[in-house]
Amino acid sequence: MMPKNQKNLKSSIKNITKKHHFDLCYFTKPIISQHLQKKYDTWVEQGMHAEMDYMSESQRMHLRKNPQEMLSDVKTVICLGMFHSPPLQSLSDGLAKHTHGVIASYAQGDDYHEVMKKRLKAVAAELDGLLGQHAQRVYVDTAPVLERPLAQQAGMGWQGKHGLTIHWKKGSYLMLAEIFTSADLEIDEAVDEHCGSCQRCLNVCPTSAIVAPYVVDARLCISYLSIEHKGMIPHALRSSFGNRIFGCDDCQQVCPWNRLAHTPNEDILKPRLENDMPELSMLMHLDEVKFREFFRKSPVKRLKRKGLLRNVAIAMGNSKDHLFINVLMDALRDEEPLIRAHAAWALYQIQPIEAALLLAQHLKNEKNADVVLDIEYTLGESNHD
Ligand code: SF4
Ligand code: SF4
Repeated sequence: MMPKNQKNLKSSIKNITKKHHFDLCYFTKPIISQHLQKKYDTWVEQGMHAEMDYMSESQRMHLRKNPQEMLSDVKTVICLGMFHSPPLQSLSDGLAKHTHGVIASYAQGDDYHEVMKKRLKAVAAELDGLLGQHAQRVYVDTAPVLERPLAQQAGMGWQGKHGLTIHWKKGSYLMLAEIFTSADLEIDEAVDEHCGSCQRCLNVCPTSAIVAPYVVDARLCISYLSIEHKGMIPHALRSSFGNRIFGCDDCQQVCPWNRLAHTPNEDILKPRLENDMPELSMLMHLDEVKFREFFRKSPVKRLKRKGLLRNVAIAMGNSKDHLFINVLMDALRDEEPLIRAHAAWALYQIQPIEAALLLAQHLKNEKNADVVLDIEYTLGESNHD
């Protein structure tokens, strides 16, 4: 039977979401303020969405700015958050271990899309029983939803200067999801931002991707470049990658609100130990089959072998460690052009004089025009020295 008042109803919904391992549950209207709509427009106009065409496609932009049109008669958005473990290594320890690669903390366990979607559906099934006749739809990251502004106006947490949602008690290591429903539920109060005069995330960002407080230029952000960007990594940014091979946690690791970051009691997104700083050499030896086995059910799998090994080659180059020369020479013969180009760059970082001779030889047989261009650019860099 439906509880009589809104407070009981909300509390029943919260209990259901908790039972399915969502740590946070807040309620808001499906409306994005004019100010935030304008901010989104400006971000896209300035090209900061990089190659994420789904962010600039007009119908999807319209829906992002008008969540009330996502579902007919939608009245409430239930914003949900699920925490994952903070990084197992400190920022300095992780970056200093140059023979190993850093994978962002959220990506060290099972793919959150799969984990959360399954649980969202279970929540939705229970809501059908609780709310009776109502329409609803669930979303995790893949739909045109401005989820962080919605989370802020729902009171879950504010969008920090690094653009991510921060819960004032539990920090920012959390993934978001939403349920849009036609049920008219009491909303929660928006939360104010509490970054104050802090600038830590802006100062630590290795590529200066936080171009102004609350504005992240994806074209510069390692999280975007190492995961979403499918092609060659711009030469000017490769050295800033350090040994980050999938995503980047730097701006979250320095954030004072993560000093007491929440570690879930029962972390269903818990990191697998083998994904905490895997050895670069081991990764570079993965063929397609071994890659799929090693990253089974992991979000890293979506990057595909060629994308990950591109990043691994960059990390090897940045290490300047002669240990990697042989494995990089093998990678120069890989069938994937992306891997060959970045292996060539890496060899040049480690041993410029010898690599220049080797790459000049390699160019005589290299058939892929993009790889040729990229290696010529690498060697061109040598001429400027
Ligand atoms: S994820 Fe990394 S590169 Fe992107 S804004 Fe944060 S610190 Fe900068
Ligand atoms: S590091 Fe400072 S400025 Fe950046 S999000 Fe955290 S509190 Fe805000």
